[in-house]
Amino acid sequence: MTGDGTTAAHAGERPAVPGEPHRPGPVLSTAWHLPGAPDFYGRPDNPTYRDLERALSELEGGSTVTAFASGMAAISAVLFGTLKAGDTVVIPSDGYYATRSLAADRLAAFGVTVREAPTLGPYPLEGASLVLLETPSNPGMDVCDLAAVCADAHAAGALVAVDNTTATPLGQRPLELGADFVVASDTKALSGHGDLLLGHVSTRDDGLATRVRNWRTWAGAIPGPFEAWLALRSLATLDVRLERQATNALAVAELLVGHPGVSGVRYPGLPGDPAYPVAVKQMRRFGGVLAAVLPDAAAVERMLSASRLASAVTSFGDVRTGIDRRAQWGGDDVPDGFVRISCGIEDTADLVADLTAALADNAG
Ligand SMILES: *Cc1c(COP(=O)(O)O)cnc(C)c1O
Repeated sequence: MTGDGTTAAHAGERPAVPGEPHRPGPVLSTAWHLPGAPDFYGRPDNPTYRDLERALSELEGGSTVTAFASGMAAISAVLFGTLKAGDTVVIPSDGYYATRSLAADRLAAFGVTVREAPTLGPYPLEGASLVLLETPSNPGMDVCDLAAVCADAHAAGALVAVDNTTATPLGQRPLELGADFVVASDTKALSGHGDLLLGHVSTRDDGLATRVRNWRTWAGAIPGPFEAWLALRSLATLDVRLERQATNALAVAELLVGHPGVSGVRYPGLPGDPAYPVAVKQMRRFGGVLAAVLPDAAAVERMLSASRLASAVTSFGDVRTGIDRRAQWGGDDVPDGFVRISCGIEDTADLVADLTAALADNAG
């Protein structure tokens, strides 16, 4: 058992062969000479996917991982790979908006009953066959007690999938807390450079892994080999990136909590945050994302134009600090001045000084 930094730096590595590259390039082929296993055509499998999947499995402490073209492709694989007409699914009412849209529009059309529940519960589990959780939730940063909800869901006969995008495998291991699936957008902090879209599903159940894998093959939601390779390259620095992002997020949370122009600061790693007691119990680290409320859209605008380091971006988990005023998109039930702040890996003192200056206009 090695530390996170060591595991990340070597994740997915192939055995050393003299004369072969230390880091092999992406395998871009769609066709292989036959006969031969396991590769014959590009859609079912690819050596670069396998390297990435092995790396993610190592980071998650052991699981069967299937890589997907995006986080939504991964979520779709679990929804469409497990649900059938007549089933009931419970999804977060305060989670990622595209999941809610997909469920409300497509799952309902295929005869699945969709129930929404807030991350803090209560969960309407009776008769449910699948519960999708998202913790910490995006964008509200609420945290649910995974072990407790998994136990209740299993007692009710439901499978549990956890969207682990915000935490990443180094921040939280839902499979160890009882979840049947992890789903994630690796577009965010996991790859961390704002230059690729990718997702994955993990499970420790062979039957469930086969269903997800079959969905990928049939629906064709496969990652590009180059993106898989870029993500694998990025994974090596996940531990050091997360460490700085979390340090920055805590410092920014402390700055904002004491600021007269800011309310509603949420960061699970902030002692005093309502999520803190559950977060310390189940999270291995708290990540780089926090939420806060400024008085209005104009105040957010002023902060963004005064900041030299933070830019307006709607993704998160990047090495550069980004701020998203969520109400502009219309999908979340949040006030006009609500911002999701994603801390990058800038020096903590520089970031705090920059945001302090950028917020000076908003005081009182
Ligand atoms: C971004 C995100 C997704 C969707 O991921 P894509 O890679 O954009 O498809 C799903 N869940 C959460 C929590 C996200 O933040």
